[in-house]
Amino acid sequence: MKPSLFDVTIIGGGPVGLYAAFYSGLRAMKTKIIDAEPDVGGKIRYFYPEKLIHDIGGIPEILGADLVANLKKQAETFDPTFVLNTRVTSVVKQNDGTFYIETENGEVHLSKTIVIAVGSGTYKMNPLKARFAENYASALHYHLRDLEKLRNKKVVISGGGDAALDAALMLLPIAKSVELIYRGDDFKGYEERAKTVLDSGIQTHLHHEITSLHGDKTLKEIEFTCTHSGKNKRIACDAIFVNHGVEVDIGNMRDWGFETEEWGITVNHEMETTMPGIYACGDVACYPRKIRIIQAGLHEGPIAINSAKNYLDPKAAPEAMVSTHHEHFMN
Ligand SMILES: Cc1cc2nc3c(=O)[nH]c(=O)nc-3n(C[C@H](O)[C@H](O)[C@H](O)COP(=O)(O)OP(=O)(O)OC[C@H]3O[C@@H](n4cnc5c(N)ncnc54)[C@H](O)[C@@H]3O)c2cc1C
Repeated sequence: MKPSLFDVTIIGGGPVGLYAAFYSGLRAMKTKIIDAEPDVGGKIRYFYPEKLIHDIGGIPEILGADLVANLKKQAETFDPTFVLNTRVTSVVKQNDGTFYIETENGEVHLSKTIVIAVGSGTYKMNPLKARFAENYASALHYHLRDLEKLRNKKVVISGGGDAALDAALMLLPIAKSVELIYRGDDFKGYEERAKTVLDSGIQTHLHHEITSLHGDKTLKEIEFTCTHSGKNKRIACDAIFVNHGVEVDIGNMRDWGFETEEWGITVNHEMETTMPGIYACGDVACYPRKIRIIQAGLHEGPIAINSAKNYLDPKAAPEAMVSTHHEHFMN
């Protein structure tokens, strides 16, 4: 059966794609949103659902997971179609001007316009490479999506970047103990944050790395090794938060036919790419003085949608009515 044709397909269900989906609903566009992950939320869901976000206008403080829940609820206002666990692999403009979208799992989607909001691409956390790590998969945490799971546990953090330092500070009041192991001679994260960790009383082991995991059915101890002397130590441990960086994969997007640059897709002030009918917004969109924060993307999404709307209907108003004048919110 031929897939149905959508007015706009938003590739990427991060914060920016979600808000763009809400706005396209305000513009009465038949909307589909496709994301490679099993759930929406982009980097916030993946990297920092338990972090407090402070730099969104009018919201002095919000937990990452709560912001995602709010954006998802807002995106659902006009009932867009969500397609999850689906990575887009190619976009081809057909002779009739519509777009043929192919995905990794072999699905095909059809759309009159496309808004690309893929952020930095898809992510995969680098694994802990230590002996017997495969025996204790349930004790290895690559994301802090639910701090409660680590309450009263002896937690070891492996890594020295900001995420590792943040995790150490977040877990300190919750876990039974927190120790930080990093192979470098100095932490990689912000100096201020590293100082806070050092002053907090968290036991840190610089120039060491975890080399093996031990226990019976559950993890009981880890062995770690000094990268200078080669000497080993063991400590009790129930859970490890691993933060060894992430592999980011933008896929073959550079072959989709529009101009790209080092950090993403070139757009003009209308969020138009160099291919008519395709727009980009959020972290992936590149223009002079670009800021890669949530608030900036929440502004770019509606611009991209308005451009798509006018591409489909040049006589349409250049922007949506403000929501309080929209019939959906008037009852
Ligand atoms: C650790 C960290 C902390 C941060 N803290 C803050 C902060 O405090 N405040 C702030 O404003 N900003 C912060 N940021 C930046 C902020 O997260 C980004 O600006 C924001 O997430 C960009 O949203 P986006 O929707 O453009 O992209 P993303 O959030 O990256 O979402 C992109 C989505 O596209 C999907 N995708 C990618 N490729 C494909 C494909 N081929 N097919 C289908 N789906 C695809 C991905 O799965 C993902 O869900 C932080 C970033 C990081 C990494």
